[in-house]
Amino acid sequence: MAKSRSYTSTPRTRKSALTTFGSRTDIGCVRDHNEDSLIVAPPLFVVADGMGGHAAGEVASEIAVSVLEQQAPAHPDSEQLERAVEEANREVILAQHDGRGREGMGTTVTAAMLEGERLVIAQVGDSRAYLLHHGRLQQLTRDHSLMADMIEAGQLTPEEARFHPNRSVITRALGSDPLMRPDIFEINVEAGDRLLICSDGLSGMLRDPEIETTLRRVHDPQRCASQLVNEAIAAGGHDNVTVIVADVVGHSHKKLKRVKLKARLTVFFILLLFAAIIAGAAWGGYTYLNSRAYLSAVDGKVAIYTGVPGSVMGISFSELDRVTDVSVDDLQPGTAYRLEAGIQVDNLQAAESLVREYESEAAARQAEQADDEAAMDDAANDGETADGEGATAPDTTAATAPTETGATA
Ligand code: CA
Repeated sequence: MAKSRSYTSTPRTRKSALTTFGSRTDIGCVRDHNEDSLIVAPPLFVVADGMGGHAAGEVASEIAVSVLEQQAPAHPDSEQLERAVEEANREVILAQHDGRGREGMGTTVTAAMLEGERLVIAQVGDSRAYLLHHGRLQQLTRDHSLMADMIEAGQLTPEEARFHPNRSVITRALGSDPLMRPDIFEINVEAGDRLLICSDGLSGMLRDPEIETTLRRVHDPQRCASQLVNEAIAAGGHDNVTVIVADVVGHSHKKLKRVKLKARLTVFFILLLFAAIIAGAAWGGYTYLNSRAYLSAVDGKVAIYTGVPGSVMGISFSELDRVTDVSVDDLQPGTAYRLEAGIQVDNLQAAESLVREYESEAAARQAEQADDEAAMDDAANDGETADGEGATAPDTTAATAPTETGATA
């Protein structure tokens, strides 16, 4: 029963997980079943490489990823992740004797939790986690293998280890020691970094520079995972190959969102302020115009307007209040001239007051005109008397036109 899961780049993505990723597992060219298992449930990414033969290795790796999926914390937490791996170990040991698997079965586990710019890894065995950081590949985990021990002891070079007959011997795995503890790595990563988790079917078939090249070259994480598996198969595919590629989107995405939101809010408040200023100015202008008044002429009569005379782009800022009974002709010529342009006053009260002055002025002017006309009539009458039959002259004539009376006497 081959365990083969391959998720596309967007399975079961939690909203908070700012990660894009891809994965693929393949039986390879030599083995007759796939003992690798993986889980891609952001922020959790796990590769487990089972061992113990048919119907055993895949059972062990499947148990490991299942327990981790259930028991891993919701967010990167090294202690809780470590406990989950220890629980998976106990479960694999238990399964050797309860009919689910076989004695001697075991599995590696490379479990990574990636959220934002925080990465926590629990490591057992020789599956690996790498980080592509600024275009450079670095191995994050240390293999629990005989080869790693010999390389560290200076007994082997990495290149010699690739072809060593004992290259598959691992020194720590789930399924043997109940007190087994994983290595724990806590790493701060950056947006733009790329996490690779793989079984030794990849790292045993490709050299690190080859892996680095593909991680740099293929931008889409799903295509990149597929491509890495293809390359391992092309290189011989001697083992099951499992690859997870997860890109670190990090907080910069959140930061960018925050910056955008802040910019939008700033624009909104500037527009709001602008609108408030416009509204305030409009209200102020309206109040000012309503308080002002002026006098002008309508059909030869003095009229009172609220507002100010004139217009801007065809818009008038005044309204006729009333037309008075004062005739423009009864006013001083200068006043009539000024009325044409509009005589501005502080308010309607002042306008009414000015109109009353004009009424007085007009009344005085009318009285004066009446007097002048009367005088002219008298003069005409006096002329008639001197020339004619000596008609009776009223007493007032003597008073108003003494000179003429004297002249005639
Ligand atoms: Ca393997």
